[in-house]
Amino acid sequence: MTPNIEIIERESRFTSGVYGKRQVAIVRGSGALLWDADGREYIDCASGMGVASIGHGRSEIAAALAAQAQRVITCPEIFYNDVRAQLLERLARITPAGLERFFLCNSGTEAVEGAFKFARLATGRTGFVAALRGFHGRTMGALAATWERHYREPFAPLMPGVTHVRYNDLGAMDRAITEETAAVILELVQGEGGVHIATPEYVAGVARLCRERGALLIVDEIQTGFGRTGRLFACEHYDLQPDILCLAKALGGGVPMGVIALGTRVIESGRIGKGVHGSTFGGNPLACAAALTTLDILEREHLPQHAEQLGAHAVDRLSSLRSPLIRQVRGRGLLIGIELTRKAQPYLEMLCERGILALPAGPNVIRLLPPLVIEEAQLNHVIDVLAEVLGATTEPVQPAEQPVSEAPEVALLQQMLMIPSLSRQEGRLAHFLAEQARVMGLHASVDEAGNFVACTHAEPGEIQPVVLLGHMDTVPGNIPVRLEDGVLYGRGAVDAKGPLAAFVVATARAHQRGELSRPVVVIGAVEEEAATSRGARAVVQRYQPAACIIGEPSGSAAVTIGYKGRLLLDCCVECDLSHSAGPQSSSSERAAAFWERVRQHAEAWNAEHAGASAFAALMPSLRSISSESDGLIDRTRFMIGYRLPPEFDITGLRRQLVQWACEADIHLSFSGEEAAFRSTRTTPLARAFIAALRATGQAPSFKYKTGTSDMNVVGPVWGQNIVAYGPGDSRLDHTPQEHIRIAEYQHAIRVLELVLQEIAGGREAER
Ligand code: PLP
Repeated sequence: MTPNIEIIERESRFTSGVYGKRQVAIVRGSGALLWDADGREYIDCASGMGVASIGHGRSEIAAALAAQAQRVITCPEIFYNDVRAQLLERLARITPAGLERFFLCNSGTEAVEGAFKFARLATGRTGFVAALRGFHGRTMGALAATWERHYREPFAPLMPGVTHVRYNDLGAMDRAITEETAAVILELVQGEGGVHIATPEYVAGVARLCRERGALLIVDEIQTGFGRTGRLFACEHYDLQPDILCLAKALGGGVPMGVIALGTRVIESGRIGKGVHGSTFGGNPLACAAALTTLDILEREHLPQHAEQLGAHAVDRLSSLRSPLIRQVRGRGLLIGIELTRKAQPYLEMLCERGILALPAGPNVIRLLPPLVIEEAQLNHVIDVLAEVLGATTEPVQPAEQPVSEAPEVALLQQMLMIPSLSRQEGRLAHFLAEQARVMGLHASVDEAGNFVACTHAEPGEIQPVVLLGHMDTVPGNIPVRLEDGVLYGRGAVDAKGPLAAFVVATARAHQRGELSRPVVVIGAVEEEAATSRGARAVVQRYQPAACIIGEPSGSAAVTIGYKGRLLLDCCVECDLSHSAGPQSSSSERAAAFWERVRQHAEAWNAEHAGASAFAALMPSLRSISSESDGLIDRTRFMIGYRLPPEFDITGLRRQLVQWACEADIHLSFSGEEAAFRSTRTTPLARAFIAALRATGQAPSFKYKTGTSDMNVVGPVWGQNIVAYGPGDSRLDHTPQEHIRIAEYQHAIRVLELVLQEIAGGREAER
């Protein structure tokens, strides 16, 4: 049972059952990223339902909370408080003009409930007008104004006197506002109801009708407030001064807080007196401290402007997607809806499987509500994945702003290097490769895992194919693409775009010459560099290849026939903070002691088993370590990666590690477990390489690598007729100097063509 499943099972046993939950147990976040208990990373386009606008894991919020918690946490509004005073002043300064006084509460629904009470008091009337598809919360008053029937009907009778009218229909509003109307309540962008944007004429018209008829205008900015739509408040897009403004969600940076902002007409009614409303937790200093820090961050990092720019870019890109599933794209800032012609739920699940958490908005709309700190590359990746999931074609990708080589095989690799493709962000490259492969006469597409797949045959048929399995993703670190003196520089030149480009070119050339009768499938897998190897796992059951070449650099004259295994450990140790002069070990000392134990164990194991051979050795490495303290808890997180030799007892090692972790009270989770895999130099494929290398004037050699590759994933299923091959010096993998010699790249293409003739040519296919 994985840690994720364990949490899900434990929570499921006792949770109320009112939520339709996703099968993800979130345990950590940073910026726009979240991680589940199994260590899987997600790009967050839900923001905790519009809360985490400043991003997850903000140390400023943690520090503000810790400092305030040590001063005073609770202080109801029957007393005055310094932090609350600051927040009230700040709210008065930043909210639209005319809003003078503020009631602090704990959630959006509560803000709406209070707004209704204040509106009734101020006007002496009882009725409310709300909009179709509006959402205002789930308690008896707020629920009465919420449109969705199945939220409301089981709980009737609700607060009476609420009329619903069509949104953006001023005539309907005109008919609905009567002398009994205390207030109209509206969202300026309907979030839950499908991302519908109010027109300026409608908003101005409703405000006028309210003024003329003595009704108040309550604007619900619980979702749109604090920068979400590209302005601090959506009211600013309309130059609107509401009588009551409801706020919540993003204000507390994740800490619950709501606000009812009251305008002149409410205050001047003279009816908002002592005792008419109250809340124990409302305006507590802890939430106020978090809100002040959140507002500082929103201002300092210009997040509303960022939301406006990125939102416009995202809506542009989404609008250029062509898919029969997309009906319309709507958005304002980073509140974006993609209306589908079908139910959104299955597509939300597909997104989740691909590491993207998004929300529905009504039955047919996918809603993107990312933290406002999301980076452009992350949002682009979200759009790439959406395009894949919705089977959309994009406008043709034009990566080549710099001059590209006249040699087509070099131009292909050069353009591939110009498209960034970190793990889980391979979508653009996959579509580019599919386009290029089609131009070169192959049948190409992007599969449901996001892999680029090109085949010499339209249908696989009965004959076992030859599979050339490369990968598209690279490690981070931009290296400007340049071609100089026969050397091509760029991230991924060696690992592994060079080998993948060589696969595509060699296959297309052999196919164009009519040399291939056995189908050849070229795959550019996703997530090889991540612990997940998701691309390879998605294809391992799809094919039963006659032979497989893995696309990894081996130098064009050598062939790799074995990779070590791996095991990754995520560890966390926590203790109460104590004085450094005291007797208690700090979390970093305990982490260091654990690492020392791991290191010594490997040293002893190697002395007994491995001798001097690096391939046979047990190789642990401390990949990262970081300590933090919030003033109360001292915490160290560290990651250990093992390189495992063949036939190694991984289960035994895991058991041993768990025991040490228990003894040291360290929390441990495993990921990226792969056994070592090795083949031999006598397989038909290895022999074909020997012949091809000799035919091109090279002396063949064979290598075992101490790293891992997708061979570890597919080798155990696809069998021994497997090698890894590709141009490039693997010592340049992951380095800032990554580059490939063009002559070597071209030599590798020639070798691959000869190998394909041998193993997929007419003679071989007849056997
Ligand atoms: N109003 C709007 C516009 C909302 O989007 C929501 C929540 O999604 C609410 C009210 C209710 O807020 P809460 O869930 O904090 O009670």
